[in-house]
Amino acid sequence: MASNNSQDSRQSLTNELIRSAAILDAYRCLPATDGNLSARLDQETILITKSGIEKRGLAESSFAAVKLNDSNPPDVSSEWPMHRAIYRTRADVDCVLHAHPPYLTSFAVSNRTPDVRLLAETSELIGDIASVPFVSPGSSALAEALLAASMTAAVYLLANHGAVSVGRTVAEALHRMERAEFLAQVAFQAACMRDGIPITDASISSFSGHHADPGR
Ligand SMILES: [Zn+2]
Repeated sequence: MASNNSQDSRQSLTNELIRSAAILDAYRCLPATDGNLSARLDQETILITKSGIEKRGLAESSFAAVKLNDSNPPDVSSEWPMHRAIYRTRADVDCVLHAHPPYLTSFAVSNRTPDVRLLAETSELIGDIASVPFVSPGSSALAEALLAASMTAAVYLLANHGAVSVGRTVAEALHRMERAEFLAQVAFQAACMRDGIPITDASISSFSGHHADPGR
């Protein structure tokens, strides 16, 4: 690949990752300095966010290009072992997004996954949400647990932690995370409504008048 093309592709991937972070931030999926985003630049190189930075204000300098054979690169996201393991194991993945979306994380801390069959789009476009047991964030054991949970999932829920989406493109990984978070929100709200049992008319009439209307 000519160097100009390679610079163009790095620039374009950087722009897509910056845009994805802004969208995920709008969904409040990236509190403080949480989350990390990466994409495959070429067979041996991954573009990934550096450590300890807010994802809502990413710039070109917020990313590092890291070789896949580098197990401990300086200054990059602490979740590099997880990103690295996914790229090394899944040839179908060219983008990995890790975020802490509030509804998906609520499912993750409850050791549950939202049913993708609740919505037509998610059953077709996500297909599989895998549940990963709790392992310390940033550890290579987390990478192993994630891949042990599924080698084909589009979205992973990390117990007591957050979520990971993967895709062939940045847009595909982003849309999977957005749709999964929307599904989790709808599933949560639908469960709240199903559990809400209205008071019967007979009960209402039995205490009618007990609470004086201050407007009268
Ligand atoms: Zn995290």
